[in-house]
Amino acid sequence: PAGRGDIPAETWEKVKNHPCYSEQAHHHYARMHVGVAPACNIQCNYCNRKYDCTNESRPGVVSERLTPEQAARKVMAVASTIPQLTVVGIAGPGDPLANPEKTFKTFELIHEVAPDLKLCLSTNGLVLPDHIDTIKKLNVDHVTITINMVDPEIGAKIYPWIFYRHKRYTGIQAAKILNDRQLQGVEMLAKHGILCKINSVMIPGINDQHLIEVNKAVKWRGAFLHNIVPLISSPEHGTAFGLSGQRGPTPGEMKALQDSCEGEMHMMRHCRQCRADAVGLLGEDRSAEFTTEKIIQMD
Ligand code: SF4
Ligand code: SF4
Repeated sequence: PAGRGDIPAETWEKVKNHPCYSEQAHHHYARMHVGVAPACNIQCNYCNRKYDCTNESRPGVVSERLTPEQAARKVMAVASTIPQLTVVGIAGPGDPLANPEKTFKTFELIHEVAPDLKLCLSTNGLVLPDHIDTIKKLNVDHVTITINMVDPEIGAKIYPWIFYRHKRYTGIQAAKILNDRQLQGVEMLAKHGILCKINSVMIPGINDQHLIEVNKAVKWRGAFLHNIVPLISSPEHGTAFGLSGQRGPTPGEMKALQDSCEGEMHMMRHCRQCRADAVGLLGEDRSAEFTTEKIIQMD
């Protein structure tokens, strides 16, 4: 959204300083990600576990792993250097909710040291409904769910397996469980007044046209913003899609899809697919100033 426009006042309070939720804010406010969550409970065909979770992250950058205490210290260091910092997010390297103790401990510590910072979480959504109360209690204002399909047949081409309630599921059954949980999560977030952004990875030939259905499904369940990002896949990343020669979409294909989804729902068009340890304004990367080594040296 470019400005207040049709956004209710209460929602506007939550988006106006968030560089991802407000296109205007991204020129003025900074965010940082802390990588405290190594494990994941599903497998996406576009993921290479050596790198950051492509929930929001560009593959090819080996990510940091911080303890919750180191993450809180890093937040303090960044906040004192970058006064425009308004948002701290946890987006990887795996799924934050597959690492609930680490993720929630980190949010608690950040809230203690910097209560004014807004908290943001990204997830594949598989266990999101189980954690809504904690997310609410910890005042996490923004949750991003990566939803790439609402049809399990398409899902089976994207997700080889999930691990859910101590059991491994594959194929259509896995995709169905994942999608039911994701959509339930969207509804629960809306009910609790937590802003929800949907990320979708556009995979030509697999889910490109189908993302219009995804857009409709999340819109009526109350998601605030839809962010369609291009598949970044290449053999050197070793992902299943990369190995099968699957290409990413062209900028023209991306724009056409975003245009066909544009309607009552806000489309995010300024996502930079940041790394999981991103620091600074969108489009500037100051992560090198705050490397894991430097943070550990502060121990
Ligand atoms: Fe990789 Fe993220 Fe998918 Fe997990 S949810 S497999 S970390 S892209
Ligand atoms: Fe914002 Fe996109 Fe970067 Fe996430 S990856 S911090 S949504 S710009």
